[in-house]
Amino acid sequence: MVRIKTKTTGVFCEKGFKLPVNYRKDAKVLLVGLGGLGCPTALMLTRAGIGELRVLDDDVVEASNLHRQILFSQDDVGKDKLVAGVAALRRLCPDSPTRFEPIQSRLLPDNARELVREVDIVVEGSDNFATKFLCADTCFLEKKPVVQGAAVRWITTALSTDPGGRPCYRCLFEDLPAQDQAPNCAEAGVLGSVVGFGAALMVELTLRVVHGCPDYGHVYSYDGRLDRLRRHKLFSRDNCALCGHQPEIVGIGWSAYMGENCESP
Ligand SMILES: [Zn+2]
Repeated sequence: MVRIKTKTTGVFCEKGFKLPVNYRKDAKVLLVGLGGLGCPTALMLTRAGIGELRVLDDDVVEASNLHRQILFSQDDVGKDKLVAGVAALRRLCPDSPTRFEPIQSRLLPDNARELVREVDIVVEGSDNFATKFLCADTCFLEKKPVVQGAAVRWITTALSTDPGGRPCYRCLFEDLPAQDQAPNCAEAGVLGSVVGFGAALMVELTLRVVHGCPDYGHVYSYDGRLDRLRRHKLFSRDNCALCGHQPEIVGIGWSAYMGENCESP
C-alpha cells in the first residue's frame, strides 16, 4: 500500500484517499476538559495540525487517572493538567503547527458565551452533566458547531451538532439528571481503552467538521463489553426546550446548571 502525507494536514493516508479541499487549517478549537477524553483528543488534533487549540481545565493530575489520561506520567501527579498537558503536546508533536492557548478555568455560566464565541468549533469531553448541558446550550445560542463525548464503564458515546443547533443535545437528553442518577467515572469506573475509543470518535467528528464533511445529527455509541459500535440517527423534538418551536432556554443563567462540576473523565 502506498502511503502519502498531505501537505495541509500532516495526515498519513492511503494513496487515492481524497480529503475535501476546503480544509480549514486555521480552525480554532475550544477543548473543554483535559481528562481521559480530552488528552487523546488534544494529541490527535495536534498531530492533525489543527490551527489553534484552546484547552480549558482547572484540575491537577491524579495518579488514579493516569490509565486514561495519556498525556500525563507519574512525574506529573500534582501538577496542573494544563501545564503538564501542553508541555506533553509540545514534546510529542514538535513539528505540529498547532498553537496552544491554555485557559485555567472550568466552563461556567459567566464565561461560556465569550469562550465559545471566539472559536470555530467546540469539543467537549467533560465528566458532568452540568458542563455538558451548559456547553450544548451555549453553542446553540452562539451558533457554533459542537462535538460532545462521554464515557463510563464499558460505554462511550459521541455526537456532533451543527451551528443551526437542530437536532440538539437536549433533543436526546432533555435536561440535567438528578445527581444520584448520573454516576461519573470516579464513582462508576471506566475502561481506559473505552475512553480512548470515545476520543477517537470525537476527533473524527471534529475533523469532519473542519474538513467540511460533517456528520451532524447522529449519535455514535460503542459498547466495549460487546465490542459493538452503533450509529443512531438523532431526531429533533418539536417541544425541545432549546431548539423546539417554543424554546424555554434563551439565555445562560447559573440556576439552570446547578450540578457539581467534577473532574474530567
Ligand atoms: Zn433540541
